[in-house]
Amino acid sequence: MHELSIALSVLDIVRSTAVEAGLARVDTVRLRVGRATGVLPDALRFAFECSKAGTPAAGATLAIEEVPIGGRCEDCGREFTSPEPYVLACPLCGGGSFRITTGDELAVLDLEGEP
Ligand SMILES: [Zn+2]
Repeated sequence: MHELSIALSVLDIVRSTAVEAGLARVDTVRLRVGRATGVLPDALRFAFECSKAGTPAAGATLAIEEVPIGGRCEDCGREFTSPEPYVLACPLCGGGSFRITTGDELAVLDLEGEP
């Protein structure tokens, strides 16, 4: 399960960031997750809930900001965003030459908590 290993690395980041920031208790962990990563936010929330005990994030909520897939088409020259988890052709002209520019993000944005 992909989401479990992601939740564990998020908790590692939270642990070291909380120490650096002097937070004894973390209330909110904000993540940015691009749709092209294939990560399912609900599964990630569940994995986080199951793994957070005994960490500074034991009482924390995971706030996930989803980023849609965006790209630039070489055929029609336009920028697009897609609500789909995969983009196989330009949604504007159907062309196959495009570059994905957003949607592969997977990052911890910040933590809120108390010292
Ligand atoms: Zn196009």
